Amino acid sequence: MECHLIEYAKKQRLTNEKTKESMECIESIYNTSKFDVSICKCNKCGQKFIYCFKEYNSPHWEDYYWSFWIKASEEDIIGIKNISKIFEDNKLKPSDIIKNVFIAPADLKKLIYKMVTEKSHIVWADDNKFYWVEKGMAKYKAQIIFYGVLIMDEPKYLPDKFQTW
Ligand SMILES: [Zn+2]
Repeated sequence: MECHLIEYAKKQRLTNEKTKESMECIESIYNTSKFDVSICKCNKCGQKFIYCFKEYNSPHWEDYYWSFWIKASEEDIIGIKNISKIFEDNKLKPSDIIKNVFIAPADLKKLIYKMVTEKSHIVWADDNKFYWVEKGMAKYKAQIIFYGVLIMDEPKYLPDKFQTW
């Protein structure tokens, strides 16, 4: 049986209240006001998710807020933990490394970007609605959210062709 949160998201009936009620954060990986990553678990079925909050600031001073709950396998969890180990090995908390700097470690951002574009996830989009994205988000859209720009060696998508899911 699929997690009820995923079922709600598929029907576009998921809300912030329902998410708060059932998503339990079990481990914080990285925590800043603009980029936040943790490991979450549904407290009803035990399905694990990698949670990521990302704020994107447009060149026109508009702020956009995105939240992702990536359906995670044990392998995905290990991948994220290996990255967070870098912080431990340096005997620093993530918050020490990036204190007052809003640039997240490149490896973690790259990994989350890859997961968001390749894996099934729940997204709380900048239109304030929740969606289920079965096959990963289009790369050009994720590039804007995570990097603020389109990367030239990626497929030549145009930003004005933003699609709905
Ligand atoms: Zn569940």
